[in-house]
Amino acid sequence: MQVVLATHNPHKVEELRRILAPKLPALEVLAYDGPEPVEDGATFAENALIKARAAAAHTGLPAIADDSGICVDVLGGSPGIFSARWAGPAKDPDENLALLLWQLGDMAAGHRSAPLTCGAALALPDGTEWHVTGEWPGQILTAPSGSGGFGYDPIFLPDGYAISAAELTPNVKNEHSHRARAFDKLIPVLQTLLEV
Ligand code: IMP
Repeated sequence: MQVVLATHNPHKVEELRRILAPKLPALEVLAYDGPEPVEDGATFAENALIKARAAAAHTGLPAIADDSGICVDVLGGSPGIFSARWAGPAKDPDENLALLLWQLGDMAAGHRSAPLTCGAALALPDGTEWHVTGEWPGQILTAPSGSGGFGYDPIFLPDGYAISAAELTPNVKNEHSHRARAFDKLIPVLQTLLEV
C-alpha cells in the first residue's frame, strides 16, 4: 500500500520513513509536493489533520501528516503550534532556539520542563480520518549542544539522558521521540488498512 507523507520538511520525511519502515515494511511512503494548506488549527492534531486531508484530496491516496513543536510548561505550553516561527516569519531554527533560551534565562533547572509534542493524522480520500498525539518529556538546556536532528533538538534534554536530542544517534531519537510515540498509535490502523 502507498501512503503520501504530507510534509515538505525533508527532516520529517527522513525521520518518519525510519520510524515506519521497520514496523510496516509493506508500506510505501511517498513524498508529497502538492499544495500546502493554511494551518489554522488550534492544536497539533488539528493541524496534522488539515495537512493529511489536503494531501489525500490532492493525490487520491491515503495521507499521513504530523504537526509538532516544543511546549514549555512555564510558558503555558508555548511555543507549541507556533514553534516553527517563534522568533518571526523567517522560521530560522537558530533564532527560534536563541529566543527561547533568552526567555528562560532566569529559570532554574527545576522549571525548564518542555515536552516535544507531535500530533499525527491519517486521512483517506473517502473522508475517514484518525488523529493521535505523542509526547517526549524533557527539559530545555541552558545552551545548545550537538549538531544532529533539527529544530529545537540542540536545546532539548530528553528525560533519562545526559545529552541533547541533537547528540543522540538518529536510531535512538527515532525510537523515543514524540513523533515515534504518536505514529506508534497509528500503526495498528495502518496495519489494518494494509491487510484489506
Ligand atoms: P511544523 O513543521 O509546523 O510541524 O513545525 C515544527 C517545528 O517544531 C519545527 O520547525 C521545529 O522547530 C519544531 N520541531 C518539530 N519536531 C521537532 C524535533 O523532532 N526536534 C526539534 N524540534 C522539532
